[in-house]
Amino acid sequence: MLKDQDRIFTNLYGMHDRSLKGAQSRGHWDGTADIIGKGRDWIIDQMKASGLRGRGGAGFPTGLKWSFMPKESDGRPAYLVINADESEPATCKDREIMRHDPHTLIEGALIASFAIGANAAYIYIRGEYIREKEVLQAAIDECYDAGLLGKNAAKSGWDFDLYLHHGAGAYICGEETALIESLEGKKGMPRMKPPFPAGAGLYGCPTTVNNVESIAVAPTILRRGPEWFAGFGRPNNAGTKLFAITGHVNSPSVFEEQMSLTVREMIERHGGGVRGGWDNLKAIIPGGASCPVLPKEALEDAIMDFDWMRENKSSFGTGCMIVMDQSTDVIKAVWRLSKFFKHESCGQCTPCREGTGWMSRVMDRLVTGDAEVEEIDMLLAVTKQVEGHTICALGDAAAWPIQGLVRHFRNEIEDRIKYKKTGRVSAVAAE
Ligand code: NAD
Ligand code: SF4
Repeated sequence: MLKDQDRIFTNLYGMHDRSLKGAQSRGHWDGTADIIGKGRDWIIDQMKASGLRGRGGAGFPTGLKWSFMPKESDGRPAYLVINADESEPATCKDREIMRHDPHTLIEGALIASFAIGANAAYIYIRGEYIREKEVLQAAIDECYDAGLLGKNAAKSGWDFDLYLHHGAGAYICGEETALIESLEGKKGMPRMKPPFPAGAGLYGCPTTVNNVESIAVAPTILRRGPEWFAGFGRPNNAGTKLFAITGHVNSPSVFEEQMSLTVREMIERHGGGVRGGWDNLKAIIPGGASCPVLPKEALEDAIMDFDWMRENKSSFGTGCMIVMDQSTDVIKAVWRLSKFFKHESCGQCTPCREGTGWMSRVMDRLVTGDAEVEEIDMLLAVTKQVEGHTICALGDAAAWPIQGLVRHFRNEIEDRIKYKKTGRVSAVAAE
């Protein structure tokens, strides 16, 4: 279990002083100019050595991403864009950083921007995050007044401006290229990749897009050293992390822990246990709507990290878990997700626009039992047509929960169909 002295986001644990003074008393903004004075290469090397993988869900190595930015300017400005459009169902961890620890994010923005050669950064904050926007803006204003932002920011010799941009509530604007389009004032529709943003991002200029948490942990990593951060978790899954746990647990929470804790530890220690006890657990969705559901039988020794989840045909995502007990209609839960993705598809590519509609219409029939058993395989075939054939990851995200449902709960789907037709459950379910 993570010790108090190893927590980065201490404001989450009772020391509720989010002012600049409060942040400084906890060690933030300490020696920022010295860190910057060590140079771009040093910062990027330290971030690579820390093993930090992007905390927005995809887990791309942060230091490596920073290293893609051009070393020499070709006349175009460079930008940092911080993705604060946290919209993944059940994911509410970045919100806590912005509410309670805004200075960790702002200091991280300055250091990261220097490391990638950017004199300006944008924080793109989710439309529904009104209070968080107010807290962040107040903290940004405080930093300008204190000389920590603007010309010669924090006496580092680096000029740096930070802008807060409020989104309008579209889930797809959390996809990095849709977010860039939206920042440019256009409709939030994803771009084809490549080119990746480091080559052509905001206004066609070199851009790094990072999640809030990835940026907010950077100053502490650089102050305490990459070995300290890499000492938590497992190789390739390093560090401390903000997790969230919701659903059928006794105490839903957002908490900081080491990577690679077990699912059982997470539920029992940080969620207060499954409602009705461990035996009442039915399934989890590990880290966001796109992560395939895992049944209880797969969870006895399950580990919450990128590699374990990938090896077991799910994904770690944002590390914000939904717990479902035996009372859950898991078909209905996935049916609801299929509606969500259909609604949020931007509609520009055919497999996603049409496929999310098809999948959700078949799910309508599965959830009531009004389908034919053969439609289960037909539905799977549709998910395969969508997966990997779309411009952005939303298509995959819509396909994977359904694939997970069929993989683990086919009996339940078949029973519902048979019961609807005959009034009897199957032999398998009766056993
Ligand atoms: P991705 O794997 O395509 O990319 C991840 C990051 O790595 C991007 O910044 C991308 O530009 C960069 N990258 C990947 N390959 C690269 C390469 N060859 N060269 C240069 N840069 C490269 O994933 P994505 O579409 O950005 O994100 C999908 C994830 O987002 C899902 O796993 C989901 O969990 C997560 N998600 C999170 C939220 C949230 O609220 N936090 C919302 C929706 C989705
Ligand atoms: Fe839009 Fe869906 Fe295509 Fe993404 S996959 S670009 S959301 S239509």
